[in-house]
Amino acid sequence: MPIQTPAFKLICPSCGWSKLFPPMGDVRLPGQVLDKCPSCGGEPLNRVKLNIAEKMLVSIKAKL
Ligand SMILES: [Zn+2]
Repeated sequence: MPIQTPAFKLICPSCGWSKLFPPMGDVRLPGQVLDKCPSCGGEPLNRVKLNIAEKMLVSIKAKL
């Protein structure tokens, strides 16, 4: 049974860029998770848990 990584969100503290990541299986492709901001190149990015609204958003997206 694959282990799922819980959904999370990356936020750039420098420019405010953010991206939601849906729950993922245990197979992770390189480049799927960013360690630098694609907008300003800042690092490290803050990794935060999703609030309820954001969790609903990623679960809706996952079904599309
Ligand atoms: Zn940034």
